Amino acid sequence: MIRINDHFLKLQASYLFADIAKRVEHFQASHPDKAIIRLGIGDVTHALPDACIRALHQAVDEMARDQSFRGYGPEQGYAFLREAIARHDFQSRGAEIEADEIFVSDGAKCDTGNIQELFATDIRVAVPDPVYPVYVDTNVMAGRTGIYRNGGYEGLVYLACTKDNGYVPRLPDAPVDLIYLCFPNNPTGAVITREQLQTWVDYARENKALILYDAAYEAFIRDDRLPRSIYEVPGAREVAVEFRSFSKTAGFTGTRCAYTVVPKACQAYGPDGRPVAVRDLWNRRHATKFNGVSYPVQRAAEAVYSPEGQRQVRELADGYLKNAAYVRQAFSDMGFDCVGGDHSPYVWIDGQRDSWAFFDLLLDKAGVVCTPGAGFGRCGQTHIRISGFNSFANVQTAMTRIQAALQ
Ligand SMILES: *Cc1c(COP(=O)(O)O)cnc(C)c1O
Repeated sequence: MIRINDHFLKLQASYLFADIAKRVEHFQASHPDKAIIRLGIGDVTHALPDACIRALHQAVDEMARDQSFRGYGPEQGYAFLREAIARHDFQSRGAEIEADEIFVSDGAKCDTGNIQELFATDIRVAVPDPVYPVYVDTNVMAGRTGIYRNGGYEGLVYLACTKDNGYVPRLPDAPVDLIYLCFPNNPTGAVITREQLQTWVDYARENKALILYDAAYEAFIRDDRLPRSIYEVPGAREVAVEFRSFSKTAGFTGTRCAYTVVPKACQAYGPDGRPVAVRDLWNRRHATKFNGVSYPVQRAAEAVYSPEGQRQVRELADGYLKNAAYVRQAFSDMGFDCVGGDHSPYVWIDGQRDSWAFFDLLLDKAGVVCTPGAGFGRCGQTHIRISGFNSFANVQTAMTRIQAALQ
């Protein structure tokens, strides 16, 4: 008899986006003339930068000729891309990261989901609340939690991110071993200062813990005092893995390219307490289970680091930031508490009512789709997330409609 991994039975069906789609469909059917404006799903809306498109075309032409054709590449990614990443994203900001500490992949979702395989099943795991659901569900699948009860899984440590702590979690009361952090945050849009990040790095060093730092929204940071990488904080090389993606930063959500940084000094511990290099374990796992990102896509990613590429991705992010700032201003003017939108495409709004009720209100009265915060955890229950991933004209129309609806 073929038996299943019964940890999968603990998973809560994710109805969030299906539920949203159903309500939107129902609204459209009863209001066929109303143009719905979608400010919900976390996907970019603008085309790839021109520099990336040129590099893609050129690489496709190389694949068309025997002399320049490429088959399997290195599992870790081509050196041309890893070297460009190390130079531009880290060394230029004083973070000592080398090309052989970078692992190119087809997504930060896969990497943040897969990394937990390297660690024991009886470790204590801490996740933010609200949370990017991938961190939680992959640990549930691996058997690191108990059952789901009262809006959370037993055995997981939820780090509350609320107005009281400025949406940056406090250190946990009880010790934890694996810590997921995400800044600029999805869904709240909050950022962490260098000093705050230092307290987490110090905590990890004192407790022999490991921080998994998701920096998928790093390109939206506009204040140079804020850390773009955890490796800008002293001591992080020994206790942190960082995830980056070209998805939100360069419009690659449909093209697929990301990378994970595992410094050689980063350690976890064997059964006898002996330190083991996390990099070597990840390298082994990656080379065993993954065969590399396609050559044309890696060339397109490399083009992000050309002077034109840098200008174009900055313009893309600036456009989304302008939208998010407009959303934040509009909701603040209506008297709502908001966070995010200044170094993030997301604005997290405290609606002071049930998040699904607020969702329904905005859809029914304004024809605007947001994301109910309850889908991200207990701390999201009275919040909604609005994203700047749309055109400025649509964002302006959406806010005008919401202002009229809430009067
Ligand atoms: C979008 C997103 C990612 C990136 O996912 P990809 O698989 O690289 O497209 C990673 N983390 C968070 C929190 C995200 O919102």
